[in-house]
Amino acid sequence: MSHTIHHLLVLAIFIGMLFPAVSADISAVQELPRVHILATGGTIAGNANSSTDTVHYRPGEIGVDVLIDSVPEIRQYTRVTGEQVCNINSDDITPAIWLNLSRRINAVLADPGVEGVVVTHGTDTLEETAYFLNLAILSEKSVIITGSMRPATALSADGPMNLLNAVRLAASEDARGKGVLIALNGEINGARDTTKSNTQSVQTFSSPDLGLFGYVKDGKPMIYRTSARKNTLSSEFNLSSLTALPRVDIVMTYPGMDSVAMDAFSGRGSQGIVVAAMGNGEYPAVIQPALEAAALKGIPVVISSRTGSGITSVKDPRFISADTLTPQKARILLMLALTKTNNRDRIAGMFRNY
Ligand code: ASP
Repeated sequence: MSHTIHHLLVLAIFIGMLFPAVSADISAVQELPRVHILATGGTIAGNANSSTDTVHYRPGEIGVDVLIDSVPEIRQYTRVTGEQVCNINSDDITPAIWLNLSRRINAVLADPGVEGVVVTHGTDTLEETAYFLNLAILSEKSVIITGSMRPATALSADGPMNLLNAVRLAASEDARGKGVLIALNGEINGARDTTKSNTQSVQTFSSPDLGLFGYVKDGKPMIYRTSARKNTLSSEFNLSSLTALPRVDIVMTYPGMDSVAMDAFSGRGSQGIVVAAMGNGEYPAVIQPALEAAALKGIPVVISSRTGSGITSVKDPRFISADTLTPQKARILLMLALTKTNNRDRIAGMFRNY
């Protein structure tokens, strides 16, 4: 051992004797699980001119470092790191951002030193990003997505507690292998069945059909159930080499509609159509010819329901049932299905499995 190293060791032992609390603290910090935050913007990163303004604020303005530093408690539980993927209103999220985000998460989770990741996201399209990641992440490590309804500058902002709970959930063994989890307002929901259900309330995410997974109680995850549908490691979608996703459009149904939307989507090269049908998969007869024409051209037609819950039935065997997926989630699955096949039966099978 060289003299210099020997001197350094003696010095370290001496400091350890003088300040035992400090050296214990350092080793405790080193043992804390490492959680990586990928920030995308939204209200949780939103800035308003006044603390009472919860409507006219600018989402996606505050950077990830400020978000993390504003909740110092996070460092009591994790060695946290962060990166800014984008900083936008989630209404402007695109499939290109989904692809980039899923690739980054897969790369981060491949690091054996990382326990899990947290994605911060605007709440408007959080459910779509969550379901996309649920199918695109190839790891059983925890992936938690969170956001907030009140901007960071608001009185009683909900973002800091949501972020702390999400990070603690990501650091916990309990979140592993359950697919992507949505953590807001003390509740844990699964990516597949959860939807934003209120325009302004902090209690906006719920799984109206199939129920929530659990709660975060005093910072501790309490998980009671999971989804039996395939996700993450059991998913067959590998998007690592893709630069774009197939175009899939949603046709809203309503009394008095015509086939203008269907015709426009076909004209723009839609590769798949999701119908937000009425009730148990019904729609005005006026759009039947356009739907049939699409199916005949090899463009899959998926029938979902605008009711918000229940399994959607399909009367025409050329079309595919969205199962219990909402129109916006059915669109995500159809986009991913189309990266593999446009065969009706194979895609129908995917809708029964995911
Ligand atoms: N418009 C915002 C967004 O989705 C709403 C929110 O984050 O709550 O980015």
